[in-house]
Amino acid sequence: MLQQRTLKSITRAVGVGLHSGQRVELTLRPAPADTGIVFRRVDLPEPVDIPMRAESVTDTRLASTVSTGGAKVQTVEHIMSACAGLGLDNLYIDITADEVPILDGSASSFVFLLQSAGIELQKAPRRFIRVLRPVEVREGEGDNLKWARLEPYHGFKLSFEIDFDHRVVNATGQRYEFDLSVGQYARDIARARTFGFTKEVEYMRSKGLALGGGLDNAIVMDDHKVLNAGGLRYDDEFVKHKILDAMGDLYIVGKPLLAAYSAFRSGHALNNKLLRELLAQSDAYEIVTFEDTRQAPHGFGEIARAW
Ligand SMILES: [Zn+2]
Repeated sequence: MLQQRTLKSITRAVGVGLHSGQRVELTLRPAPADTGIVFRRVDLPEPVDIPMRAESVTDTRLASTVSTGGAKVQTVEHIMSACAGLGLDNLYIDITADEVPILDGSASSFVFLLQSAGIELQKAPRRFIRVLRPVEVREGEGDNLKWARLEPYHGFKLSFEIDFDHRVVNATGQRYEFDLSVGQYARDIARARTFGFTKEVEYMRSKGLALGGGLDNAIVMDDHKVLNAGGLRYDDEFVKHKILDAMGDLYIVGKPLLAAYSAFRSGHALNNKLLRELLAQSDAYEIVTFEDTRQAPHGFGEIARAW
């Protein structure tokens, strides 16, 4: 049987929120089978649990925000991406503020934390959402067109194309495909950082956003060049970060997908719309488990794969 996974032990991280600039502590704890990934706001008078579901996403400007009632957690996509990449099903994430710390702007610190705590197999089958027919969402036309699509696939792969008319981005690959059965998430995707332009950063700061942002946790570019002293971590770091984000956004659905995702200029809003579109069409998917791991997609049965 392909089993659910949680952490072996508790692990902690401290950092600042990208937008709030606020100090925040995270405690990642093992959770029982079938719990899913649950954020717990432990700073509120009564702790509030926010489970990961497509409808938990309540704001997608700049980052993916999830909420229950009045309690929210912003910028969940990078830690959710690490959980998707390492195949973690069940986890409590205790958090002391309303934003996940940005750390280095990628998912690699989360991958390191999760790997250090270790992965434990649980006595329940992993439940996947298998996509049975294509589902697509589109927005805009011409130069503003963006779309995202899920199609049947025995495994999980993502193909993303960005279209940034910027000297630095143009010089890099703007399209990338990542297949979880073939590639290695920690090596190929997790280190890609979020990115921004100095003009945008100045504007966002004037609106009280990106207060925790800087060269330590983002690729920052002016009109001509990357300002970070170390340059890029991958030649195609921009599009790889979009794949990292998409993996996180899609994992909010609560279960791993068996599908091929492809997207053109998609973002947090369209990714969430795609999940809702899928769930709205009950004949477009089914929930499956693998009693015989040989029936599972290549590599899905090996913990070491994603590492
Ligand atoms: Zn991101």
